[in-house]
Amino acid sequence: MTTTEPVTMELAEIAVQWTRILARMQMEVGDVEYRTWLRQIDLVGLDGDEVTVSLPTRFLRDWVSTRYGDRLRALWQTENPGVRRVDIRVGHGAPQAVAPQPAVTAPAAPPVREPIAEAPHPAARRVEPVAFAPAPTQAAAPAWQEEKVEPRSDLAAPLDPRFTFDGFVVGKPNEFAYACARRVAERPSSPGFNPLFLYGGVGLGKTHLMHAIAWELTDRSVSPVSVAYMSAEKFMYRFIAAIRSQSTMEFKESLRSVDVLMIDDLQFLIGKDNTQEEFFHTFNYLVEAGKQIVVSADKSPSDLNGLEHRLRTRLGCGMVADLHATTYELRFSILEAKAARAGVEVPVKVMEFLAHRITSNVRELEGALNRLVAHANLFGRPVTLETTHEVLHDILKAHDRRVTIEEIQKKVAEHYSIRLTDMSSARRARAVARPRQVAMYLAKQLTSRSLPEIGRKFGNRDHTTVMHAVSRVSELMERDGAFAEDVELLRRLLES
Ligand code: ADP
Ligand code: MG
Repeated sequence: MTTTEPVTMELAEIAVQWTRILARMQMEVGDVEYRTWLRQIDLVGLDGDEVTVSLPTRFLRDWVSTRYGDRLRALWQTENPGVRRVDIRVGHGAPQAVAPQPAVTAPAAPPVREPIAEAPHPAARRVEPVAFAPAPTQAAAPAWQEEKVEPRSDLAAPLDPRFTFDGFVVGKPNEFAYACARRVAERPSSPGFNPLFLYGGVGLGKTHLMHAIAWELTDRSVSPVSVAYMSAEKFMYRFIAAIRSQSTMEFKESLRSVDVLMIDDLQFLIGKDNTQEEFFHTFNYLVEAGKQIVVSADKSPSDLNGLEHRLRTRLGCGMVADLHATTYELRFSILEAKAARAGVEVPVKVMEFLAHRITSNVRELEGALNRLVAHANLFGRPVTLETTHEVLHDILKAHDRRVTIEEIQKKVAEHYSIRLTDMSSARRARAVARPRQVAMYLAKQLTSRSLPEIGRKFGNRDHTTVMHAVSRVSELMERDGAFAEDVELLRRLLES
């Protein structure tokens, strides 16, 4: 392919055709699927009768070619009968000859019913759907014509296309937070739900839920809502930059003109008094104007020491929802859902193993699964327990529990304020029997000791007693969120 003028012109036309194909695909597959898989396709160029497009990873390439390859080819042929083949490859598809050139201005009227894709224009930037002002129909310009994804307004950060409600797995530990998030997405600014304050540990889905709310609100076909989502850190930098450039008024006004303001990881504002002050005023203004606020943090409002008292009080006035530590069941369901989404067969045994071993947070769990999937795709080998050990060697090592039964007994006894000797005593009072069961459960989970071995360490108890303890604790964890959290906390303490 050369860069001579006629070829460039031809590429310009190809680019217009490509825009139309993408728009059509978006209509056919729906927004979520489009954003997840297809938006990342770059047009590389046309060579003879072959169009080349690229995707950033092998995994995406494989996925797109299996699922959408035929359809893409068919659409190309309708658009351009000269095209016979479509090559989908891995790479960052900076177009070879589609250099910045003014040849493409307005495209021929697209044959699609709704012009979802914008006319490619050299100066155009891709507009994320989360644009500060509603821009739900401007998301589909092809990637080759701009650099990095930038939201239209500096205020809003781009949203992760995977963080939707559909992609969120609901279980006991997060069902309440999920329900609140859904409710706010459906009816923002309802009394009782404003502000919505989401809190929980790292990697439990706070950002995911916030993005999901934003997607839902900006994607609405009827009266989309303007949403500004940003991290508290970004909020601070914007604020400081505004002070420096003496444009605080503009900054304030732009913030105050949104319908929904979302600030992620608010704990970042601890100790940043001026920014807190600014946020407090914006907050009050918006709530009084009937606008929705969504905030996340790693602790509940009352535990956010170092945040101004009046701000904490205000934050706690609406709906406060926490994301609890994951349970085994939730981790398993998440793995199941993500494996299905990736279209890779992962044996139940492997998922059970991972859900047991990687307990820290969903992000790590997801990372492990992604690695397995990538490996399977790369080598065309099925996922097995064996390959899992091999591929995740380092992650598993980091999670390797070198905890002893003695340590477990000590920690659990301390936690429930009972005597260490009661771990092996014959006392059956609930106050000691329950902690003992928890310790047995943790011993089973965190060490590689057998049931009889564990029994022996607990005052020579029978292995069936241990078995009973394990199932009893699992059962209670299922039913009682507070208890589950307690056990998970102990587990984390022991693992760290
Ligand atoms: P946080 O903001 O609480 O630290 P994130 O929202 O960034 O956590 O979540 C970390 C990762 O785990 C993300 O990739 C997210 O999609 C995933 N994740 C967390 N919880 C869930 C869930 N319930 N279902 C599906 N994915 C989840
Ligand atoms: Mg987060």
